[in-house]
Amino acid sequence: MFKQSPKIYLFANWKMYLDYDESNILAHALSGEVKKFKDAITMAVFPGALAFYPVTQVLSDVKIGTGPQNIYWVDKGGYSGEISAEMYRSAGGKYALVGHSERRHLFKETNHETREKLEAALNAGLIPVLCVGETLKERKDGEAEKVVEIQLRALLDNLKWPAKRELIIAYEPVWAIGTGEACDPGEAEKMHRFIYKAALEFLKVEPVMLYGGSVRPNNVADYLQKPHIRGVLVGGASAKLESWLEIIKSALSLKQ
Ligand code: PEP
Repeated sequence: MFKQSPKIYLFANWKMYLDYDESNILAHALSGEVKKFKDAITMAVFPGALAFYPVTQVLSDVKIGTGPQNIYWVDKGGYSGEISAEMYRSAGGKYALVGHSERRHLFKETNHETREKLEAALNAGLIPVLCVGETLKERKDGEAEKVVEIQLRALLDNLKWPAKRELIIAYEPVWAIGTGEACDPGEAEKMHRFIYKAALEFLKVEPVMLYGGSVRPNNVADYLQKPHIRGVLVGGASAKLESWLEIIKSALSLKQ
């Protein structure tokens, strides 16, 4: 039932780490490495908005998908500063992050807004990467599963999932993101199992599950070996060529 596709998912969230030139340089460098991993890895990159188009052009040539880190749910109109799912699709985007914890917590994005964004991504033909996860306080209070279930319900309840669209869910405990304090792989597996079952119940669609939160070259294999974890969503360590290549190498070593 698990590990349906033999490919490992390595998804890179460049956040706001790279400027225009740095983004393009990293995209070109990555495209030069693709031959080494293209048969074993499904890779996606989430660049900043400014460099999205040129990075997408470079990476789509080598079959690496891209997506925005955030979208707005209306297609077009008087919404200064926003960029719609449809605009990203027309610029070559394939995926979209939805509900990243930095959007939820720093920008106070609500469960209702994440649902609007999810529907916009689906309507635009993008593959949403749904991010869920609990804060440290919620975990300490024993509420991790409850919180994640509420997030999932808000996203998926009464939703008709388009046929043949991948359902990708990233479990990203808020306290592990960008902190260097990664979740214990056994605990991550437990949460993935819980989310997998809940998502299957809501949609009757089998989700592809990713772990995110301080993934580094030295711990990525510990996650990828778990039965419910098909890949990783990586922030900091994906925005530097050296560490991203190390992560790729570590993932490839599991295929041998
Ligand atoms: C992320 O941004 O989704 C993330 C997991 O960040 P980091 O790898 O830096 O913790």
